[in-house]
Amino acid sequence: MRTKVAIIGAGPAGLLLGQLLHTSGIDNIILEGQPADYVRGRIRAGVLEDGTVSLLDEVGAAERAHREGLVHHGVEIAFGGVRHRIDMHAATGRTLMIYGQTEVTRDLMSARAAAGLTTVYQAADVTPHDFERDTPRVSYAKDGVTHEIACDFIAGCDGFHGVSRASVPDSAIRTFERVYPFGWLGILSETPPVSPELIYTNHERGFSLCTMRSTHRSRYYLQCSLDDHIEQWPDDRFWEELKRRLDPRAVEHLVTGPSIEKSIAPLRSFVAEPMRFGRMYLAGDAAHIVPPTGAKGLNLAASDVHYLSRALREFYAEKSSAGLDAYSATALARVWKAVRFSWWMTSMLHKFPDTGEFGARIQLAELDYLVSSNAAMTSLSENYVGLPF
Ligand SMILES: Cc1cc2nc3c(=O)[nH]c(=O)nc-3n(C[C@H](O)[C@H](O)[C@H](O)COP(=O)(O)OP(=O)(O)OC[C@H]3O[C@@H](n4cnc5c(N)ncnc54)[C@H](O)[C@@H]3O)c2cc1C
Repeated sequence: MRTKVAIIGAGPAGLLLGQLLHTSGIDNIILEGQPADYVRGRIRAGVLEDGTVSLLDEVGAAERAHREGLVHHGVEIAFGGVRHRIDMHAATGRTLMIYGQTEVTRDLMSARAAAGLTTVYQAADVTPHDFERDTPRVSYAKDGVTHEIACDFIAGCDGFHGVSRASVPDSAIRTFERVYPFGWLGILSETPPVSPELIYTNHERGFSLCTMRSTHRSRYYLQCSLDDHIEQWPDDRFWEELKRRLDPRAVEHLVTGPSIEKSIAPLRSFVAEPMRFGRMYLAGDAAHIVPPTGAKGLNLAASDVHYLSRALREFYAEKSSAGLDAYSATALARVWKAVRFSWWMTSMLHKFPDTGEFGARIQLAELDYLVSSNAAMTSLSENYVGLPF
């Protein structure tokens, strides 16, 4: 087999890149390790920047998002039992959209199928070869038979645990990491959201977040210990703990119900530099991870593939490799700003086991300043709705 761009991974980064390349007439094949249903069913992100929605528009995959997505103009930050609204639309003129990663994945998969593009699901032993030369290849096994794809470029869109970054020699890559001393316990329930907008709460018992996927499906998170297990958190215990951390008005309006999904995720900041290795380019979680506090993971995957697709378009249409040469530096400049913002939101809102009363007082001072300063609210808003790309 031969294609121009072999994409490893059918998460949001790989699927969106595939469609962006297709709209520019650049053929591509996606190799995905998991079955399609498994990829479609993964419950993860849910807040889309308007720039991400524009990219979905560009590939003709945003029609359902515009119909079913919820447009948000602000968020609420609670501390000391009081909620404060930050009007992001007033500060930036921009909005956010609540639309689940499961739905984005479903829409991109449908667009790919409608365009008749090749995706190999359950591809085993996917391995990138010769990406330091002009003739890269990707091998994989399907139903016990080994195949090989010759290509011009490889896009490593295979997430944090993927094979692309792992194939790069240690001497060629530098990584930066912070592992936070807590995790997020999340549940999804078929209940109406407690409030029309997200509520981020700083509380002495730990952080909580009230978010949603639709007007009838809610997502709630509690900061938890890294030693906690799902079995220790039956639904009743979750709802009781959430109520302890919420402000009185939220407690009054909270509708509880059985969870339809429950998971614990550790929180981590991670960046790999560079994001280009010869003819292999990393995009999305393959190159960086942010704690979900800033709602940036999926949106960063989208901005990476925006830069990469533009660079590849320039290469094929204008025979120029300037965009490809600049890809790593351009993407990393935006990535590090999102890493900083996600770290800052995480630092301001969570209970840290090692910073004591001093750290807690500093957090309250920072929150108090945030909700009383237009400059501070504008700064949060600019970053939350997404820096331009
Ligand atoms: C539990 C969890 C909760 C999250 N919650 C949020 C949230 O609330 N808000 C937010 O903004 N972000 C959240 N994120 C982050 C967000 O989901 C990711 O940033 C986003 O999925 C990145 O997309 P991606 O395409 O780069 O990577 P992924 O979505 O990880 O996709 C990578 C794909 O590559 C495939 N793959 C991996 N290895 C191989 C291989 N060797 N061969 C072939 N295929 C392979 C995987 O199966 C997967 O389909 C969450 C992440 C997790 C794990």
